[in-house]
Amino acid sequence: MKEMELTHRQGAMRMERAREYLIKPLLNRRYPVVQYGQGVYLYDEDGNAYLDAASGAVTAGIGHGVREVIDAMKEQAEKVAFVYRSQFTNEPAEKLAARLSESAPGNDYWTFFVNSGSEATETAMKIAIQHWQEKGRPSKYKILSRRMSYHGITLGALSMSGHTARRRRFVPLLEELPMVAPAYCYRCPLRLTYPDCGLACADDLDAAIRRIGAEHVAAFIAEPIVGAAGGAVVPPEGYFRRIKEICERHDILFIADEVMTGIARTGKMFAMEHWGVEADIIALGKGMTAGYAPMAAAMAKDHIIEPILRGSQVVMSGHTFSANPLSAAVSLAVLDYIGQHGLVQAAADRGEKLLQRLRAMAERCDIVGDVRGKGLLLALEFVADRGAKRPFPAEAGVTSIVVDQAFARGLLVYPASGGFDGDGDAVIVAPPL
Ligand code: PLP
Repeated sequence: MKEMELTHRQGAMRMERAREYLIKPLLNRRYPVVQYGQGVYLYDEDGNAYLDAASGAVTAGIGHGVREVIDAMKEQAEKVAFVYRSQFTNEPAEKLAARLSESAPGNDYWTFFVNSGSEATETAMKIAIQHWQEKGRPSKYKILSRRMSYHGITLGALSMSGHTARRRRFVPLLEELPMVAPAYCYRCPLRLTYPDCGLACADDLDAAIRRIGAEHVAAFIAEPIVGAAGGAVVPPEGYFRRIKEICERHDILFIADEVMTGIARTGKMFAMEHWGVEADIIALGKGMTAGYAPMAAAMAKDHIIEPILRGSQVVMSGHTFSANPLSAAVSLAVLDYIGQHGLVQAAADRGEKLLQRLRAMAERCDIVGDVRGKGLLLALEFVADRGAKRPFPAEAGVTSIVVDQAFARGLLVYPASGGFDGDGDAVIVAPPL
């Protein structure tokens, strides 16, 4: 039965179509054409169903085809779909900024709306630099990050990212920003074991700041749980508290890249709540509109914006579609839906169950070295040798094989590299909440 299904789907992918002009991830591959989505399923034009266990790219947090969101979108489109932010403000964007601030730790964040997670982290970077400029400390401009990280594909965001495969072609164009050790206990880059390590990976940030000089460093950026660059890598207890202490000691801002982890995904509204740490700046994206419209955000605490408010009064960033009313109305409807259906808690509860089930399954599967994650952001890391935790050679393309085989059987999972400096294989399992 499975074999038949596989052949059927692959046949559908190979079907002859007219010449295509759209640049897709693989130029020579024929992708199935999606017809519609409903709940946790997507359906292609041949009637095949796909269980969306990746929420696309960890985005469709409330699933597909939610009526309330579609209605909110229609209602806003009938009023006004676009205004330019230097001419008008608009009610949905104002309400959304207030709502995000209310739901974030500390409740005192200003929000700058952008269109993608890459723009969100890049805006976060610019706000951090501008904060120090307006405080009369312009030499503080470097942004530190971690080797196992992904903060986006635009040049500024990529400069802060350790994702080797995505950087490689553009390295000469990237800003040389220092990177520190990731908190990756499964195969610790420092070859230590928690808790005896004393959180040496966090102290690597301290060492880097001392080497460079705090007077040159504006901020440190990290994903609360590493996504595409590592596969749902959760830091050990105490890690982020130590990071925050180090940042405060050196007068350096802490940016939490919650593009993947934010908005209920990990069983908290913001993943940093797991460790009780408040970031100075938060980048958001993906789940904030659950994919119903493009929108992302950089949120900065009062004390970060204050010198700009007293100074130039202009946060130097912006896009034509920033604070778009249609996207903002969609995001408000998504947040309402999450609240009304208790999806923060659902992510925690269902995530715990799914983690246990995946761990039980991994027992029977030699190539699964680690199963990890929080809430409904989970991942499996694949290794050639479980005992030695030895990864497969990159040429084996294990992640692609797993993703493609799952796809052929109607299951969507998200590819990740399962190790620092890109030496590993993992897939993320992150279904709608
Ligand atoms: N930051 C993180 C943690 C991400 O996972 C991603 C995307 O996967 C980005 C930033 C970039 O977001 P986008 O693809 O919307 O530009």
